[in-house]
Amino acid sequence: MITDTFEVIDDRFRRFAMGNVHKETLYTGTRWAEGPAYFPAGKYLLWSDIPNDRVLRYDETSGVVSEFMTPCGNHNGHTVDREGRLVACEHRGRRVSRIEIDSSITTLADCYDGKRLNSPNDVVVKSDGSIWFTDPTYGIDGDYEGDKADSEIGASYVYRIDPVDGSVRVVADDFVKPNGLAFSPDESLLYVSDTGATHVVDGPKHIRVFDVEAGSKLANGRVFAEATSGLFDGFRVDQSGHIWTSAGDGVHCYTPDGDLIGKILTGEVVANVEFGGLKRNRLYICATRSLQAVYLNTRAAARPG
Ligand code: MG
Repeated sequence: MITDTFEVIDDRFRRFAMGNVHKETLYTGTRWAEGPAYFPAGKYLLWSDIPNDRVLRYDETSGVVSEFMTPCGNHNGHTVDREGRLVACEHRGRRVSRIEIDSSITTLADCYDGKRLNSPNDVVVKSDGSIWFTDPTYGIDGDYEGDKADSEIGASYVYRIDPVDGSVRVVADDFVKPNGLAFSPDESLLYVSDTGATHVVDGPKHIRVFDVEAGSKLANGRVFAEATSGLFDGFRVDQSGHIWTSAGDGVHCYTPDGDLIGKILTGEVVANVEFGGLKRNRLYICATRSLQAVYLNTRAAARPG
């Protein structure tokens, strides 16, 4: 252990964990915290409180938390695109949307092959402007996180929205419940978690990794890491290609080779994380009822281009 915050599993983790750093709890009072997205220009973090149908904002300059949007259609995952706009996964809206500079909202994807999406869960924007998202059924399984409904598509896919014509295409169709996703720093790899164990006995609870071919297709999918505590939900990749992923007992850190080398212990189930701060070296942690943060000796991966 290094302080009460960092658990070292492998000495390779020590370079990330500083001996005088402790996790901080910035807010408590969410029911299911998710979807952290950091806005450098505004020095704030947005995140979702899915069952309470609201998006919250943490102001880094004052420490004040306020409601950014409620109701919001039960937002889940978020990301910030290259133009600094919020891209959102809406459970109840069953769509991926974008808040424009003038605050109007644009639907980016709400159906595939003429059928409504299930409930988009998490999203990432590639440097070419394409938007990649997952579409499991958590937002239509019941009324807690959205509106209960049957799946029209009948399966849970990973999709890509084309940056030129806006078309929506399936890029992976062999997941049980695809969930968090992130590119490697050079975007040659895409990591996608599968939380299928929530619905299938002995189902998947792992992260898979794919080769990104021609910038727009996935190939050679293989299991990257199996969860050792709870499930892998959302995650982020740092500048050295290490994966910082949500798990049942905190945040787990994996090398690019798939070795679990250390943990940030949170005391609550973690759903997602995001790098923020002026140097992008502060990891924000959505931990069920709380928003936590910890400084690390690493930074977010810079987006190519
Ligand atoms: Mg998720």
